[in-house]
Amino acid sequence: MYLNTQSRSDAQVRHRRRPVQFALAAFFTFAIAAPAPAQAPAPAPSLGKADATRYLDTIRILASPEMEGRGAGTKGIDRAAHLLEQRYQGLGLDPAGTQGYFQPFTVTTGAKLVSGNSVQEDFGGKKKALKLNDDFVPFSFSSSGEADAPVVFAGYGVSASEFSYDDYAGLDVQGKIVVLLRYEPTGFAAKGGHQGLTQHASLITKAINARNHGAKAVVVINGKVAAGEEDLLTRFGSVSGPENAGILLVQVKNNVAQDWFAAAGKSLSGVQNQINAATKPESFAFPASLHLSVAVHIDTLHATVNNVLAYLPGKTDEYVIIGAHYDHLGYGNADSLAPSQIGQIHPGADDNASGTSGVLELARLFAPYRGQLPRGILFMSFAGEELGLLGSAHWAQQPTRPLDQAIAMLNMDMIGRIKDKKVYIGGVGTGSTFQSILTAGAKNSPFQFEYSAGGYAASDHTSFVARRIPVLFFFSGLHSDYHKPSDTWDKINAPDAARLLDFIAGVITQLDTAAARPKFITVAAEDPHSGVTGSGGGGGYGPWFGSIPDFGQSENGVRFSDVQPGSPAAKAGFKAGDVLVDFGGKPIHNLYDFTDALRASKVGDVVNVTVLRDGKPLKASVVLAQRR
Ligand SMILES: [Zn+2]
Repeated sequence: MYLNTQSRSDAQVRHRRRPVQFALAAFFTFAIAAPAPAQAPAPAPSLGKADATRYLDTIRILASPEMEGRGAGTKGIDRAAHLLEQRYQGLGLDPAGTQGYFQPFTVTTGAKLVSGNSVQEDFGGKKKALKLNDDFVPFSFSSSGEADAPVVFAGYGVSASEFSYDDYAGLDVQGKIVVLLRYEPTGFAAKGGHQGLTQHASLITKAINARNHGAKAVVVINGKVAAGEEDLLTRFGSVSGPENAGILLVQVKNNVAQDWFAAAGKSLSGVQNQINAATKPESFAFPASLHLSVAVHIDTLHATVNNVLAYLPGKTDEYVIIGAHYDHLGYGNADSLAPSQIGQIHPGADDNASGTSGVLELARLFAPYRGQLPRGILFMSFAGEELGLLGSAHWAQQPTRPLDQAIAMLNMDMIGRIKDKKVYIGGVGTGSTFQSILTAGAKNSPFQFEYSAGGYAASDHTSFVARRIPVLFFFSGLHSDYHKPSDTWDKINAPDAARLLDFIAGVITQLDTAAARPKFITVAAEDPHSGVTGSGGGGGYGPWFGSIPDFGQSENGVRFSDVQPGSPAAKAGFKAGDVLVDFGGKPIHNLYDFTDALRASKVGDVVNVTVLRDGKPLKASVVLAQRR
């Protein structure tokens, strides 16, 4: 499960659920209830049962030290890939990658600045070098190279035909350096009919747009900052993006750029206010006497990782996808929720050896029915999920089987910690037949399912719903060991996971043998920020408090598994183990209450906070700060 970088602390994981309860239908068994398909009548298979011991054995191997937490760039993830390949091969499934069972792709595992990064102003021969990290900083997805050119202000750098708005209209930026404001005109939200930023606010969208207009480099400035906030430079590497945006991309501080606006007889805030007031571009060329020299030199670390793909042919070319990511955090990256234990193996037994082993177990159950089912089954083990759903996105862009023949995608991410028989199923609203199949199957299963309609969440099925393929997402819930070295195999509830796999096998059988494939249904986005995550930067999560919540705690408060050093929470004296119960007079029962309360606050607010420490209330006031 991918932890969004903006939500790393004070977190809300992005799959915020809206439970929908459905009435249970009549008693039902999978083997006999399948309606006979119109074209390819076939008896539903009488499948074997998932084997809890075998299931757990595979998790133990995937989560063993030899697999090194299956982090991109480790030998361990390659060992895991070969293990999966052997298992698929042993079951007699067809290779469905680009190189046998493998579909290799490249990911960036890190970027660092090397020497020679500079930005220099030249005002009619008067030169001034800006200071790295004080006045300017490159973005990690900038290309490396140098540019020396005149400078043009291109507003927010947005070309949005749907809003009849184009910062580049009538502007010549060919071979020039463009100065752009962060985010987007404030009127876009209202025009777009929703809250939050559109994709135009994304730095990547801006970089590509500038490049397409012929610019040589992009200089980003924050522009207006909220009351009480500082004009901060983005920390290098803290905003995710592609490997290389194909253009030089740096940020400079507002006060540096203010001099350039002054030379043009304008003010930065004045121009920005004008754009926002009328949602109308105010682009212009700075005086010809101003030149900038920009040099960016970045060393990018790459790794090649593999999706592992296997196919069970059916009687037709249509197929069902069943997938899970097998990568994890290796020795702990920025997404570790145990920052003090970075360097230790994060074994990822639940996240997501549990789903990976589940796919293998399902492959074992269906393998004997080669060529006998109405539709095929594509088994997918994804890499790159923890870096931002990269493996599934890669397959969706370069599918190894025709996308339009995929009738549904079932994703399992963290199914190994079923507690009190509770299981979450997402995406229920994305396929026209899902609700009835699940409801009928639930009647005959030991589980208490909690359904949500939407298909967007922080895992791989999101890459498929974006391609209008109906998706289902199976998940047993967050817990205290999420993204920590303590996510170990011995904590897996294998018997219940095996029962869930039997249930999922039934769902696959229903989908595979049904006469009609499910129709894709668009479910209104539950997260207005899903389009601009990462590169949009900033907005949406409220000010900085600095706690790392314990994801295992879901009722009667939010337990802190840690507190970030130097954060507002730390300054107020809070520490790991405290349970937040009141935030500014609002009772906090769970993480969602906390997220809402935080979002409703502003930087600089002084908030009275109550925690329980050893069961006793402890009050302190906290000065909320700006996220950095
Ligand atoms: Zn994860």
